[in-house]
Amino acid sequence: MTLKKCLFCQTENDCVNVECSHCGMALPNKHPQDKGKKKQLFIKVFAAITFLCVLMVYYLPR
Ligand SMILES: [Zn+2]
Repeated sequence: MTLKKCLFCQTENDCVNVECSHCGMALPNKHPQDKGKKKQLFIKVFAAITFLCVLMVYYLPR
């Protein structure tokens, strides 16, 4: 089951709910998993850039 976190009271709600079961405010449309995927992609890109930097440090003559 997918859970969405309420922006106002931080309560976990089911994905099927449109409104928060705790405070009744509208839940965000995006799933928390999307944010995690973006973060994973960022870490991969960051690791690739870091690897290239280290490679260039040793490859290029001083
Ligand atoms: Zn809430």
